[in-house]
Amino acid sequence: MHLQKVPKPMNPNDASLVDRGDDLATFRSEFAFPVRTDGTPWVYLCGNSLGLMPLAVPAAMQVELDSWARYGVEGHFEGPHPWMPYHRRLTAPLARLMGALESEVVSAHTLTVNLHLLMAGFYRPQGQRTKILVEAGAFPSDQYAVDSQLKHHGIDPAKGLIEVDTIVERSADPTIPLVEAIRQAGDHLAMVLLGGVQYYSGAFYDIPTVVREAHKVGALVGLDLAHAAGNVPLYLHDWGVDFACWCSYKYLNSGPGGPGELFVHERHHQRRDLGRFEGWWGHEEKSRFEMPRHTRFGRRSLAT
Ligand SMILES: *Cc1c(COP(=O)(O)O)cnc(C)c1O
Repeated sequence: MHLQKVPKPMNPNDASLVDRGDDLATFRSEFAFPVRTDGTPWVYLCGNSLGLMPLAVPAAMQVELDSWARYGVEGHFEGPHPWMPYHRRLTAPLARLMGALESEVVSAHTLTVNLHLLMAGFYRPQGQRTKILVEAGAFPSDQYAVDSQLKHHGIDPAKGLIEVDTIVERSADPTIPLVEAIRQAGDHLAMVLLGGVQYYSGAFYDIPTVVREAHKVGALVGLDLAHAAGNVPLYLHDWGVDFACWCSYKYLNSGPGGPGELFVHERHHQRRDLGRFEGWWGHEEKSRFEMPRHTRFGRRSLAT
């Protein structure tokens, strides 16, 4: 369905013709390409690991360094882009990119940390509904995260994990084995946790179908979109995905150490039955920076 045919090798003349007809081709000149010893630029096909540096980055970083030098701690509130609400500058473009509402996305932490925080809320094994379905050969960091989440709940990963082999023949639909496994797991299934685009095979799963089938058996769907964000069109809200996280340093070119991002579907925003690990930023926005009312020495109020 979403599986892409492997294109036939193209001769270089045809390839440059295709380049000339590409609406996005002009963006190439906005990125820094490492060069080989003979001075020619790399053919860069590593956006799946670290995107190239946009040439605008040094000037953009200098603006923030200037704010720091000029305002110190007040840079949180002063300067061209005060840091306190800095993440808000990314909200609208992120929502557009991911097919989400603005209230459903935020830029924070790293992908793996986000996965843990999201699973802390959404993975709530109960009765026989304990299993997590993943693709076989999932990205190692995800495997470690899921295994340790199961152990955190006292569940042996050998029993709690359903691993589905989706690396099928190129002509076949990689979503079919997922659907079969979801139906088979039925009400033992708590959660499907899937790469939107499989990092190894490149398969782009039919996400709306996975969501529909998982919801039918009462399971949630979480996605790791590391290889999908900035790479394929996404409609997380309309597809009904429950939660997702991804990183920004691959196809989104944010650079090494760039923050991760996450999505939580609107339907879960008012739920009070999910576990939440809170800190300043997970606390009510209006009162998030008030100093604590409770100390070892009893209750105190800063207002007095
Ligand atoms: C790159 C990648 C990660 C990396 O996670 P970090 O927390 O940013 O180190 C996780 N999952 C997948 C599928 C990835 O491709």
